[in-house]
Amino acid sequence: MALFETEALILRSYNLAEADKIVVCLSRSAGLIRGVAKGCRKLKNRFGAALEPFTLINLTYYEKENQELVSFRQVEILKSRFNLSSNAELLTGFSYMGDLLIDFSPPHQANDNLFRMAIACFEAASETPEDLDAVLRYFEVWLLKLEGFLPDLRTCANCNRALVDDGAVYLGSDLSLRCSQCGSGRGGAVSKGLHAHLRTTEKLSPAKFAEGAREVSKETKREMAELTFQIIGRVLERMPRIRPAS
Ligand SMILES: [Zn+2]
Repeated sequence: MALFETEALILRSYNLAEADKIVVCLSRSAGLIRGVAKGCRKLKNRFGAALEPFTLINLTYYEKENQELVSFRQVEILKSRFNLSSNAELLTGFSYMGDLLIDFSPPHQANDNLFRMAIACFEAASETPEDLDAVLRYFEVWLLKLEGFLPDLRTCANCNRALVDDGAVYLGSDLSLRCSQCGSGRGGAVSKGLHAHLRTTEKLSPAKFAEGAREVSKETKREMAELTFQIIGRVLERMPRIRPAS
C-alpha cells in the first residue's frame, strides 16, 4: 500500500454505507481519482467540511495495487467555496465544470495544465460571478483543447494555410476549420467575431478573457456557446448532463 499527497479539487461525492462517502476529485499529481472517505458522515470525523464539492484540498491517500478506489487518509482545506453556496447559478456552473472534468479526464492520469486551468476557472468565477458564462466558455474551449478535441484555430485543416482573423472560416462536419477556398459551400461559416473571440482564449487567463468578453457582442457569445456545445456533444456522444443557460 503506497501513501500519496497531492492538491485536489473535490468534484462530486456519493454516500456509501452508513457513514462513508465516495469522493471524486481532480488531483494535480494523479488526475481524476475516486476515493473512499471512511467515517466522514459521522458527527465527529477527521474530514470536517473539507469534502464539500469544489473545495480545494491538500489530500493524503493510500493506493492499493490494482484497485481503482483509493482510500482518503487526511485532508486539509486550501480553499473553501462555502461562502458561495447560496449562489444557485454559480453552483450550477461549478457542477457543469465538475461533470465535464469527470467526463473528459481519464482516471489516474496527471495533467498539470488541466488542473491549473480548472483551478483558475473556479477562481475567476468565484471572484466575479457575473462573468460566469464567459468563464464557462473559456473552460469549455480549454478543456477541449487540452484533451485534443478543439479544432486547430490557426491553420486550415485542408491546405494548412493560416486562418487569418479577417478572412472567412468554415467549420466542417468533421469539426475541423477550413479557409474560405477549402470550406466554401460546405459546413457552417464561423463568423469573424467568433474566430477572433476563440483566438483570445489562447492568450488570456480566464479572468482576463471574461473581462474582455463584456465588450463582445451577444451574437458572438451565442455562436461560441453553440460551437462548444456542439463539439462537446459530439465527443461525449450525448449532451452534457447539465448546461447553465447562456
Ligand atoms: Zn484551406
